[in-house]
Amino acid sequence: MNELSVVKYGDREIAYAVEFSCRKTLEISVKPDSAVQVKAPQGVSFEAIAQKVQKKAPWIVEKQDWFAKFPKATPPRQYLGGETHSYLGRRYRLKIEKGDTCSVKINGGFIRVESNDVSADTVRKLMEEWLRLRALVQFRKILELYVAKFKIEAPLRLQIRKMKTRWGSLSKGGMLTLNLSLVAAPKECIEYVVVHELCHLKYANHSDAFFALLESRLPDWKRRKMKLEEWR
Ligand SMILES: [Zn+2]
Repeated sequence: MNELSVVKYGDREIAYAVEFSCRKTLEISVKPDSAVQVKAPQGVSFEAIAQKVQKKAPWIVEKQDWFAKFPKATPPRQYLGGETHSYLGRRYRLKIEKGDTCSVKINGGFIRVESNDVSADTVRKLMEEWLRLRALVQFRKILELYVAKFKIEAPLRLQIRKMKTRWGSLSKGGMLTLNLSLVAAPKECIEYVVVHELCHLKYANHSDAFFALLESRLPDWKRRKMKLEEWR
């Protein structure tokens, strides 16, 4: 685990974690939970990093304040009947029924879970399995659509994981990883994450060229991104 370093900016303290890797440029990012992450090339001194963070402090504080406007992530689910769960941007009420089959279905405004064991633990497992399957189907559909639209020929694989701080990532080997929680968000937000990651096939960083490409491929990406942050 990295220890946090701190710089002062006015009456605020900016704590940040540093991660060294074989990269050429230094990147500072602010996560939705306001954590600050610095990715630095090997060999850069902590002093030089602190100076960079200090220089970017106004931008960091502005981002942190922006994230702070949004409601905190929803409280952990308990998997009890009547609870609200989101799927593709719609909220559903959980209905749990004791029965002979093991199934999860969407029915009107309900997600109906049927099982002979209706303990919260079993309901959670059934729901997660179902969500993972649905996520795979939905994400793949969106991915295929944009791969065709942008005529992308690089081989891509898709995997779904539970992630704490990111919606998606793309490895050099062409593995697109999407956050399972994305399946709760509206489709247009999932599309934004997919297109963002696809732009990383061309630019591995968040340079101006990257954002120019994103803008040309998805002109309203900022609105979608904002909506996604609000959705958390
Ligand atoms: Zn990115």
